[in-house]
Amino acid sequence: MTRFDGLAVVHAVTELTHLLDRRTSLSAFLHDVVSTVAEHMGAQVCSVYLYDVEQDVLVLRATHGLNPQLIGKVRLHSGEGLTGAAFQTNQPVLVRDVGNSSENKVIPDLGEERFPAFLGIPIKRGDLGIGVITLQQQDPAILTDAMTRALRAIASYLAATLENAAALYEAHETQTNGDAPRPAEQFRGLLNGTSASRGIAIGTAQFLSRPHVYRNTTPLRDLDAAISASTDQLMNLQKQVDETLSDVAALIFSSHLLMLRDDSFVGEMQRRHADGRSATEAVKSVVDEFSDRFAAIPDPRFQEKVLDVRDLGLRILRNLHNLPEEQQGDYSGNVLIAQELFPSELVKLYLQSAEGLVFAGGTASGHIAILAASLDLPVVSTADPRLFKIAEDAVVVVDAEDGKVLVEPAGGVMDAYRERVVRAKTSGERGGPVPAQPRLADGTDYRLLANVNLVKDARAAQSFGLAGIGLYRSEFPFLIRNGFPSEEEQFAVYRRVVEAVPSKPVAFRTLDLGGDKLLSSQVGREDNPFLGFRGIRFLLTHRDLFREQLRAMLRAGHEREISIIFPMIAGVEEFRSARSEVATCLQELHTEGFEHNPKPRLGVMIELPAAVEMAAELASEADFLSIGTNDLVMYILAADRNNHRVAPLYRSIHPATLRAVRRVALAAHDAHCEVSVCGASASDPVLAMYYLGLGITTLSVNPTRAGELATALAQVNAEQIRELHTKLSACTSPEQIAELVAPLRKRLTP
Ligand code: PEP
Ligand code: MG
Repeated sequence: MTRFDGLAVVHAVTELTHLLDRRTSLSAFLHDVVSTVAEHMGAQVCSVYLYDVEQDVLVLRATHGLNPQLIGKVRLHSGEGLTGAAFQTNQPVLVRDVGNSSENKVIPDLGEERFPAFLGIPIKRGDLGIGVITLQQQDPAILTDAMTRALRAIASYLAATLENAAALYEAHETQTNGDAPRPAEQFRGLLNGTSASRGIAIGTAQFLSRPHVYRNTTPLRDLDAAISASTDQLMNLQKQVDETLSDVAALIFSSHLLMLRDDSFVGEMQRRHADGRSATEAVKSVVDEFSDRFAAIPDPRFQEKVLDVRDLGLRILRNLHNLPEEQQGDYSGNVLIAQELFPSELVKLYLQSAEGLVFAGGTASGHIAILAASLDLPVVSTADPRLFKIAEDAVVVVDAEDGKVLVEPAGGVMDAYRERVVRAKTSGERGGPVPAQPRLADGTDYRLLANVNLVKDARAAQSFGLAGIGLYRSEFPFLIRNGFPSEEEQFAVYRRVVEAVPSKPVAFRTLDLGGDKLLSSQVGREDNPFLGFRGIRFLLTHRDLFREQLRAMLRAGHEREISIIFPMIAGVEEFRSARSEVATCLQELHTEGFEHNPKPRLGVMIELPAAVEMAAELASEADFLSIGTNDLVMYILAADRNNHRVAPLYRSIHPATLRAVRRVALAAHDAHCEVSVCGASASDPVLAMYYLGLGITTLSVNPTRAGELATALAQVNAEQIRELHTKLSACTSPEQIAELVAPLRKRLTP
């Protein structure tokens, strides 16, 4: 018997959990886990059972050493057999001779009889049972205490990884793939959830699954046909896109199309196939080698390419196997049900004409929400497991106005929803125009600028008549590409933004990656990404990327009024470092002879409590301050902006946040520094009144919200604003404020 190294096996499994990103199927992951554990521990059998909440059974999900035909089919009730006992008692079960155990249960055809020694460890999160991992052996001597300890550590890693919607989702996927009977009863009715955007969508339900195309199936097409089908699909997707989204489409698909023309990638697949490997093997081996090669290069740009390579590899394999949904690529008339998606995937689904989306799980990440809003795609997320009981062809309403999903609602309700959808379509794009000079009822002026994520939003800002762009979130091209676009690509996007609002000012914010705005390679790298390597911290470490971005912005701002805002600034040193990078870029562009803006205004996002404390110093050095209440509220109240569990604690109307904004406004006024608010709270008419009362006369809001806001503010005068301001300043609790402003809110919000 070889001694096993407990640490090595735990390490091997934690490595695997890092691989369980959203692109790896859960069953493939579990298969790797059981094989790795068995191999490292020298065990003959390792299996994982997961608990299916809906059916109240433990289901065999992966096994090394037992009959794989029974994966998905062995179903044990809690307490049933030794595995069920480990689950029920939430304790390890170690039996050296199962033949003598009264709790043992013989499952026909599973092949357990050859392995009398059994160790079962519950996979649990606190009291929540997730499943059981088991080891089985012929020789009981091998099941040592050290092995129990190592398996416990593995179970605890697995618990953290498996406690999410992916597990639920995969359970569903396996059911619909025919590995187990579909639930007899199908769900109809109402699911409550959280809106990630606005609007209403109606369509037939379709679950987004990721079939295991690598496995044991014979290609139905030849490799060349699969490659050219992949090229056609990508070109078609690009063509389908209306002009307003051309920036997005170019970012997503251009790198894939380039790779499809690359001899070292596609040519190598063809050569390997010609040399006798199967087409599947040729694609897979080249994809694996490229991914490994890119993954080994520390530069983040190459890390991101790994995903592009895999994405494209998957497309070619799907085409090789003639898998229908990707070929069709048309989801019109469908409401899609998915686990969490990357922003780029969301854009793809939009381009494939999905009507709306339902996410399995708590809340959609902030950037999925912001992107869905920019795309006008109704999105609701729900943690209700009955989601998986929706029949595949059921008609579903996604009500993102109200955070609900209605499955096959009664005729009258459905008719009312259909009417609302028709009304929204005929009234054109959501939102409405703002007056050229927005004013309060008494004629007091203020300024409305637009928050822009995509060029599409910039066009909306122009058509609604906003005075310029107060915040361009430059991370969107990066998130959409799931990588780092080149200076030229960025320049092309930024120039489109500038040109969308002729002769109006544009404030570009530099990359704010981190927090929930992560490229896929960054996912899971930090325990606390909101307190981690985010915004300016990332840029000041990756100065080459920072400079590429600044150069692109400065070039796009040629002969236009532009500003550059730095996110996540905690103090003056960071601002000075960022400013000196701008100076370097200006010098370089000048020397190289590029047309550019020689004098951009430089601003600071005030979104950290530290920046509130340092507001006086920052105001004395920066050209302007822009208060980002989305993050400021989160950091002041220590309530994650995307966590539905603490959503009641995340309150823009909290006295603490109102006081923070007030201190920043006072510091800015003292230093004669311009100040604006660009968080979502600025489009709340009551808070907008409070900010105006502080002398913050520039508000930057989602362009589709600007019309409603201007209409609301046109009903109030400076005197009422002063009054509200005095009352709010005296409040000591959010409840008190909510009560105080309720009648006003009712009057101002349609
Ligand atoms: C904010 O934090 O308020 C803000 C405007 O930036 P973002 O929502 O992109 O973090
Ligand atoms: Mg922010």
